[in-house]
Amino acid sequence: MQRRWNGWGDPSVEMEIPEQGAAYLKEVLGEGRSQVDYPRWEFLKRIPKSRLPEHPLITTDPETRLSHSHGQSLPDWIGLRAGMLYRFPDGVAFPSSAEEVQSLLDFAEKQKIILIPYGGGTSVLGHLTVPEDRRPVLTVSLKRLNRMINLDERSLLATFEAGIIGPDLEAHLQSHGFTLGHYPQSFEYSSLGGWIATRSSGQYSTLYGRIDEQFQGGTVVAPGGKLVIPPFPASAAGPDLRHLILGSEGRLGFITEATMKIQPLARGEEEAVFGLFFPSWERGVEGLRKLFARRIPLLMARLSSARETSINLDFSGHERTVAFLRRYLPLRGVPNEEGCMCLLGFRGTDRLMKTLRKEVGTVLKEEKAVPLGKAMGESWKKYRFLMPYLRNTLWSMGYAVETVETAVIWSRVTETVEAMERAMANSLASFGEPVLTFSHLSSPYPTGSNIYTTALFKIASDGEETLERWRHLKKAVSEAIVASGGTISHQHGVGLDHKPWIEAEKGEKGTNIMAAACSVLDPDGRMNPGKLL
Ligand SMILES: Cc1cc2nc3c(=O)[nH]c(=O)nc-3n(C[C@H](O)[C@H](O)[C@H](O)COP(=O)(O)OP(=O)(O)OC[C@H]3O[C@@H](n4cnc5c(N)ncnc54)[C@H](O)[C@@H]3O)c2cc1C
Repeated sequence: MQRRWNGWGDPSVEMEIPEQGAAYLKEVLGEGRSQVDYPRWEFLKRIPKSRLPEHPLITTDPETRLSHSHGQSLPDWIGLRAGMLYRFPDGVAFPSSAEEVQSLLDFAEKQKIILIPYGGGTSVLGHLTVPEDRRPVLTVSLKRLNRMINLDERSLLATFEAGIIGPDLEAHLQSHGFTLGHYPQSFEYSSLGGWIATRSSGQYSTLYGRIDEQFQGGTVVAPGGKLVIPPFPASAAGPDLRHLILGSEGRLGFITEATMKIQPLARGEEEAVFGLFFPSWERGVEGLRKLFARRIPLLMARLSSARETSINLDFSGHERTVAFLRRYLPLRGVPNEEGCMCLLGFRGTDRLMKTLRKEVGTVLKEEKAVPLGKAMGESWKKYRFLMPYLRNTLWSMGYAVETVETAVIWSRVTETVEAMERAMANSLASFGEPVLTFSHLSSPYPTGSNIYTTALFKIASDGEETLERWRHLKKAVSEAIVASGGTISHQHGVGLDHKPWIEAEKGEKGTNIMAAACSVLDPDGRMNPGKLL
């Protein structure tokens, strides 16, 4: 599949910003100035000679090395757009089997080479950054490990090679009447191995479970040997080794195979997403808390803050519908400045959906929710994988977008949202720049929820300054998250960008345990050094 070399996604897909949205950004952030992108040919000229000896599985051409030198984090974007990407892998390998991965490990040991596993390249935290090291760096793309190895319909388990990307995995399963139901917003490009290595969470994880619940076992091929974890339905035999692999971020070895828990797609079942409005954020949070305390099996739930709601409406491009909503909702007790949009998804037969919706309706009535039918949900479904394309458009208008996420217990959700938004809003004061922030909850649990906050700020004419603005923003919000008792990541992982805060979360002993595990499977520190720990 074609991909933009210095932005997100398929080059033929463009997302426009409606006039009203552009005017809002100008009012809040000031006029953005588009910058001239650093040309691709300049990068290609700059890529140094490879330090790797020849190998039949390795490509050393500059194009391939450039396209595998980064992920999709904001520093990666700044690096690409402003010509500030300075390190490139010495080569990229494309093995087609676990045996070929093993042969690359043998080669790397003999030649003292660093290895970076590469899935779909959609990391947003610097997981794929090439370290500065005396040793040559080989990035290993797993994209040719893309087969379904086994489907055990009776046990509801499917085993895949780990380089398979979302659409191919779902196509295999759905052709047999099953689904994994794992839909991160990067679904088009991200891989099963990447999901496991970063502990990913998808848009429908509320029903199907996060990747950590779906991953039942697998194989890791590592410098220190092979680790095979069988798919027991449950086990009391000591600590669960699956949790070593989950979130290992390429530090332990290559996940070559994974056995996943799948769901049958029963006949007559449908998916539907309904929209509703709460009169305030507090009411919305309380509504979701109650629904999840009762463990009502929803497909998805998403509650936008009042600001995110208003931005969603301004950016929707449906001016007449929005004007109607802004007249109608206050009549139903939802003030325009405070109303919070919520989407709730259901999956099941018509009968089950009716029962679930009735139960949800009873709970949410207590919080004065106003139901609005399916139109907003249908629109969300249509655009859910297209929204990231807005990053391309916004960048060309002179605005950078960063997203941050955490999870906290219910009693701290609101104060954490406020602390995160405040920290980001003030983070660029020394540059005299405002920051626009807005948040939503999209993975509620019985004990708490994730928080997903978006920040927009102006790109500077100098790439170094844009990067410095990002550093200020990232530091401020990460400190606010830690101080509020949130995890440094609910779904994106650690990589390079969250590393300064990992010890605050795991403690010294905890990080030592993780480092010890790395040294068993990777005694020479060859696997993706510098990430996670
Ligand atoms: C637009 C956009 C939307 C996103 N939305 C979501 C979302 O909704 N939910 C979410 O959880 N994340 C999301 N992400 C983040 C990202 O997609 C996830 O972290 C994803 O799991 C990364 O998968 P990947 O295959 O692209 O891995 P890569 O980016 O290639 O690698 C990520 C890390 O995993 C390691 N790795 C990859 N494959 C293997 C393997 N086989 N064995 C060992 N290590 C491996 C790499 O070494 C690296 O450390 C989004 C990113 C973008 C750009």
